[in-house]
Amino acid sequence: MVRRSCTFAVAVLGAAILVGCGAEPASDATQPAASIDPVGEVSDDVIAPDWCAQLPRAKYAELDRVDVDSDWFEVWEAGDGVLAIYEPKQWQEVISYLVLGDERALLFDTGMGIAPISEVVARLTELPVTVVNSHSHLDHVGGNAEFESVVGMDTNFTRERSGGLANERVRGEVAPDALCGPLPEGVTTDSYVTRPWTITEVATDGHTIDLGGRVLEILQIPGHTPDAIALLDAEAGYLWTGDSFYEGPIWLFAPETDLDAYEASMARLADLVPDLTRLLPAHNTPVADPVRLIELRDAFAAVLNGTLEGTTSGSGAVEYDAGAFSILMAADAAPATRP
Ligand SMILES: [Zn+2]
Repeated sequence: MVRRSCTFAVAVLGAAILVGCGAEPASDATQPAASIDPVGEVSDDVIAPDWCAQLPRAKYAELDRVDVDSDWFEVWEAGDGVLAIYEPKQWQEVISYLVLGDERALLFDTGMGIAPISEVVARLTELPVTVVNSHSHLDHVGGNAEFESVVGMDTNFTRERSGGLANERVRGEVAPDALCGPLPEGVTTDSYVTRPWTITEVATDGHTIDLGGRVLEILQIPGHTPDAIALLDAEAGYLWTGDSFYEGPIWLFAPETDLDAYEASMARLADLVPDLTRLLPAHNTPVADPVRLIELRDAFAAVLNGTLEGTTSGSGAVEYDAGAFSILMAADAAPATRP
């Protein structure tokens, strides 16, 4: 089984499929503290989160860890002046990034909001920090409220999500089988929410942010959500891909996902590959080969034209295996499947 959150959620939680991995939470499916049998029926038994035993992922053996004295976050060097802030104890395995310039720092995503990411950021830099989100799914904006400077994309989805999410929409993210280890002190399944935040600057495609000696450009790549972006450091050849690409099952079935837009956006990213030196994705592992974007463009085209067959999970999703990653779609949108 391909690990992380997403496939785990699909395989194990079935009806709760829309809760995890940042997708639009389904209001009636927020209780993953129950197991599911192979055909997708919820039972009363709580399953052990065996995905925990599969951590750490092998990729981390190649990276250098930075000690930040945190029980919740791990920090890893992911590039020149780039720190990956990873949350391995929660099934999303989300990764936020601190990007350092000479005068400012940019925090690309703020994680789950389960533990205060601002405390870790303060241990890593004294520079003023601006938050930019890869998109507004709950696992990327959880700590936005901790920061005074937040760039938001000019979309209704972004504005709507800045209002936060109530406990019943997000509580499944901190249920026992979504976790590998205890919650931070003071956080409970009943208390967890996505706090609302204030957008202090609105951006559109091509917006640049000068950190001093380092300029980052926002590329609007709608598809996974209407407000999905990639962040480009053209000089270093770094591209942060958010949830549009990571090594794992890529979720493309939420109501706010637009497959046509995603196809166009991935074609745009694939064109950048000759100038890229690394990808910095938002889940599982923090560094990937840029060639994956070519593979993703081609795999997605093969999904759409029916030449790449998917496998039905039994829980309403179809998974298309593309090697280093897979594409996960809703059955009613999936072009070709095999039993
Ligand atoms: Zn997402």
